[in-house]
Amino acid sequence: MATINDATVSVRRNTAAPTRPVVIIGAGIQGCATAFFLSQRGQSVIVLDKDHVGRHASGVNAGGVRRLGRDINEIPLSLVAMDWWHQINQLLDIEDGFHQQFYVKVALDDAGANLAGSRIQQLEKAGFKHEKWVEPEQLHRRIPHLTKSIIGGVLVEGDGWALPWRITRAFYEQAVKLGAEFRTPVSVQSVDYVGDHWQVTTNVGKLEADNVVNCAGAWGAQIAKMVGDDMPVEAHAPMLVVTDRQPLFLDAVIGVMGGTLSLKQLDNGSMVIGGGMRGVADPDQNKTQLTPVGLSKFVMTAGRVFSHLRDVSILRAWAGIEGYTADNLPFIGRGSQPGIIHGFGFSAHGFQLGPGVGEVLADLVMARQPRVDISPFAPQRFSKLS
Ligand SMILES: Cc1cc2nc3c(=O)[nH]c(=O)nc-3n(C[C@H](O)[C@H](O)[C@H](O)COP(=O)(O)OP(=O)(O)OC[C@H]3O[C@@H](n4cnc5c(N)ncnc54)[C@H](O)[C@@H]3O)c2cc1C
Repeated sequence: MATINDATVSVRRNTAAPTRPVVIIGAGIQGCATAFFLSQRGQSVIVLDKDHVGRHASGVNAGGVRRLGRDINEIPLSLVAMDWWHQINQLLDIEDGFHQQFYVKVALDDAGANLAGSRIQQLEKAGFKHEKWVEPEQLHRRIPHLTKSIIGGVLVEGDGWALPWRITRAFYEQAVKLGAEFRTPVSVQSVDYVGDHWQVTTNVGKLEADNVVNCAGAWGAQIAKMVGDDMPVEAHAPMLVVTDRQPLFLDAVIGVMGGTLSLKQLDNGSMVIGGGMRGVADPDQNKTQLTPVGLSKFVMTAGRVFSHLRDVSILRAWAGIEGYTADNLPFIGRGSQPGIIHGFGFSAHGFQLGPGVGEVLADLVMARQPRVDISPFAPQRFSKLS
């Protein structure tokens, strides 16, 4: 893969503004999807990553593609993203990119069922009808292995899962085909406004840009600080386990109402189990540490939903580094200075949003009005409070 040499790179193109290549910092799903949409629209793009494409959260996540259970402010963006997921094969020229199934959060007890009831009421009031209560008989018919004590659930048809590394890579490959340049490993060290443009200084040289898009994930706050934006994120390390192969029994993704579980079965029979339990993140060293107690909780919760999984063997466990904001909503929007656009802090649910985020960030670069309201994700929302 190409790296930049010591010279200042300034490529001017005969396109409407922006005139210099858009510089995107971060080659996770958000950076790759943004590069894809910008390239599709004829913009020249350079993506920089201190490691490599999909090295962090975007390559190692649970692959859950769900509208279910989203913060109400995030639903419009999630719906736009889902439209892209339902045509992801054509969009990215791949096969079987998205395993369309259904996603259900089961109620283990009355507390779970009550939560489900108020959630559906809240959504209906806001005009959203995609989440539906499903009665226990129907649920057990659709998922015969569910423990008999489950008393219903909230379900979204058409949600599902995808292989995270594969999709991130597919956005990258298509962006490259459309002319985007990726330079790795290249670490951004500072971003300064010089005269009439931005100068992005890396460990191997400088680039000039009119627009800089910050898709730096758990490191996004560091990039924001370089351009004078105070956008706090905390780095955490959500964990996942993969089990030994089980006979195929599940064609849905399972969560728990009021609890933390995400459970799916891959085509080879292995179960991928996650949901909320965190290890220790060390973003400065690119390292994570797993906590065994958390890992065993996954399997215990899985066993409450499917009793035959109580004795399942964990084959492999891992964690990824993810940036969390104080309200668990991402930062998506313009920075305080012209030409700076932020898209980070996805708080462990940004994979599904990826195609929608890519579209929105491309709109912002091109001074177009995104088709969804992004005001809940305002980069300035915490600095206003202080
Ligand atoms: C274990 C786990 C499970 C998850 N499960 C799900 C799920 O089921 N469904 C879902 O929707 N979401 C899930 N998520 C969340 C999802 O993975 C993330 O929200 C999403 O991948 C974030 O993408 P990103 O592009 O913002 O960040 P990243 O993928 O972290 O990419 C950011 C990139 O920026 C680069 N970078 C940082 N600083 C610099 C710098 N100074 N110079 C150059 N490059 C830099 C990094 O190297 C990195 O590659 C999960 C996350 C984890 C960790």
